[in-house]
Amino acid sequence: MLYFSHPSSLEHDPRQGLPGHPENPERLRAIEAALGERGWLGWERREAPAASEEELLLVHPRSHLEAIQELSRGGGGAIDADTFVGARSYEAALHAAGGACAMTRALMANEAEVGFCALRPPGHHAEPARAMGFCLFDNVAVAAALAIAELGLERVFILDWDVHHGNGTAEIFRHRDDVLFASIHQGGIFPGTGAREDTGSGRGKGYTINLPLPAGSEEELWVSLLEREVLPVAARFQPQLVLISAGFDAHRDDPLAECRLEAESFGRLASIVKKAADRWHVPVGAVLEGGYDLSALAASTMTTMAALAD
Ligand SMILES: [Zn+2]
Repeated sequence: MLYFSHPSSLEHDPRQGLPGHPENPERLRAIEAALGERGWLGWERREAPAASEEELLLVHPRSHLEAIQELSRGGGGAIDADTFVGARSYEAALHAAGGACAMTRALMANEAEVGFCALRPPGHHAEPARAMGFCLFDNVAVAAALAIAELGLERVFILDWDVHHGNGTAEIFRHRDDVLFASIHQGGIFPGTGAREDTGSGRGKGYTINLPLPAGSEEELWVSLLEREVLPVAARFQPQLVLISAGFDAHRDDPLAECRLEAESFGRLASIVKKAADRWHVPVGAVLEGGYDLSALAASTMTTMAALAD
């Protein structure tokens, strides 16, 4: 089990420009305090390298890389009401994407069966040429694209269980049939996309699964969608790698949404995914996305890592 982190993740702080911002370094401090008390659950810790330009260019145009870099170099500023770039944010974003790539390489080299990237900023809202929703580069998408372009995989399955629709990842792979993207999310909240009817486009039709849930949805509904709607399609897809956009903001205590998962619910989701991946004989890599109640985030991350390691 490989755990990826990097000190630069703690230096990206949207509170510098957007006071009270919930996506801040305290999130990782909470996770790592809990992990530290439990001996890192036996996981091996590795430092996340910076992503290379070539890796980022797999999903983002050069103009987007340069825009984030320029803004960061100039001292930073807000991109929109949610999304901030500070002086250290470009470096943090490089390592957040680079960690996902390093995890993917290590998993495909059989160095481990499972990985977890505890890095910031998160990624799944970042579209090819647009940072949004706290996200600058789409970390999980860069890793999936790398697995195909560099490592020669033909089929990657991305499960996004963040409570918000993973619009960035969806857009990046909308036209592709080599990445199956499934998002379970609360409907009617940010970013407003992710309707059930949207199943992808062109040759990617059928390779996007959007499952919006009503506010108040509890564990049984999440589990049943995963087991009955997502995994049967994923099994037929025969993925060679499973990546999870692991947001923990569907927790009942989260301030940004209204679902009602418990910390243990994430462990249950992770366990179901891991068992499926074992049947398919493929590794599982999880990448941190949202989760904004600090104790819920830490507890949910623990149950997830414990389930993946089991
Ligand atoms: Zn979220």
